Amino acid sequence: MRVVVDSDKCCGSGQCVLTAPDVFDQRDEDGTVLLLDAEPPAELHEAVRQAVTLCPSSAISVVED
Ligand code: SF4
Repeated sequence: MRVVVDSDKCCGSGQCVLTAPDVFDQRDEDGTVLLLDAEPPAELHEAVRQAVTLCPSSAISVVED
């Protein structure tokens, strides 16, 4: 799995950080998403897919292997 974020779309809601804190963080400056791990291990894939679903701005996408 490869994770892609579009910080221009991000509204800083933080849902992704709550759902998958090992993969996403928020920038101190403006709260927009910061991708910590673009190729997360298998055990985090379900949480990442959930973050995609929960993101109110559709700012997260994944490319499945
Ligand atoms: S859930 Fe979406 S809008 Fe909210 S911080 Fe994460 S990427 Fe940004």
